[in-house]
Amino acid sequence: MLSGIELAQAQQLLASIQKKLPGQLAIMEVCGTHTTAISKYGLRPLLEPLRLLSGPGCPVCVTAAGDLDRMIALAGAGCIVATFGDLLRVPGSKTSLEQEQADGADVRIVYSPLDALKIAANNRQRPVVFLGVGFETTAPAMALAVKQAKERGLTNFYLYSCLKTVVPALHALLAAPHGLDGLLLPGHVSSVIGRQAQDFVASLYGMPAAVVGFGERDILLGIAAVVRMIEEGKPGVINAYPRVVREEGNLLAQKLLAETFNIAAAEWRGFGVIPASGYVLKPEFAGHDAALLFDLPHGAVPQEQEACRCGDVLRGAIIPTECALFAGRCLPLTPLGPCMVSSEGACAAYYRYDRKKGVAPA
Ligand code: SF4
Repeated sequence: MLSGIELAQAQQLLASIQKKLPGQLAIMEVCGTHTTAISKYGLRPLLEPLRLLSGPGCPVCVTAAGDLDRMIALAGAGCIVATFGDLLRVPGSKTSLEQEQADGADVRIVYSPLDALKIAANNRQRPVVFLGVGFETTAPAMALAVKQAKERGLTNFYLYSCLKTVVPALHALLAAPHGLDGLLLPGHVSSVIGRQAQDFVASLYGMPAAVVGFGERDILLGIAAVVRMIEEGKPGVINAYPRVVREEGNLLAQKLLAETFNIAAAEWRGFGVIPASGYVLKPEFAGHDAALLFDLPHGAVPQEQEACRCGDVLRGAIIPTECALFAGRCLPLTPLGPCMVSSEGACAAYYRYDRKKGVAPA
């Protein structure tokens, strides 16, 4: 918790800077963990009129409906589909993995890809497909699982990679029209890719940004740093999380990723296909690549159900309460989109923490 003095200092700083600026500032917290932390700490009402917007950094939320449909098809075809719990309730275009599980498909929740490897070892006669989502922070564990599967001869273990890399999504976000004044960059991803890999945010797009940690004080200091850069008109990418993030990142993790994956185009909910934004297995691991080895449906499917606006939430175009379905037809137990399902989803965070704090639609 912040001490009263620290909070007062941060608020004082923000208030003094905001007074000098015309209009309302909009800062995006790119990472879903930041979205949840900001809501949990109750920072949104404290920081008004600053508008804090969520971004594309929730891996479950940006997973495309078509990818879910492909896993649902495999589950229906007799494969064991293993994945993280959050993904089960995310709607595909017609149904969800949870619904398929209720109808008898073998869908299993795991806490790590190594759990899926154990399932494969215990079910050698059956194909086990791990639906892997995440960014640079979770991709190394999936790389290790695939390497282990190859070393141990677990030929029935497959990865369906929905793994994504964050930098191309930042390019896609900033190259399109947006109303953002600054960014809070993800601390976990930055610990792998490093601060300097994100210098382009300021040098190419003139956008002030800070790499930020996950405590209350971390977040407030990051916001204060971004607001200061906006006020001074000197955009940069500063490291407000130096106890974890280095300039060059984690070279061992980067090496592991480079040994295991190639980079290819990937589909993101809310953005469509972004070139060079996904991790796909290298040819030497083709024997474990579900995307290559299974006959999967490849038709385009709508990204959203009905009037769900997850895409707009993920691009920072709206906040969750501006979706007409929020807390009405769309609830945590009956979600219409992934942003209400995932533990890092913006709609889930607003529902759980902000709804009762008077965070109203703009
Ligand atoms: S509140 Fe529900 S329907 Fe609206 S954007 Fe969020 S997940 Fe989609």
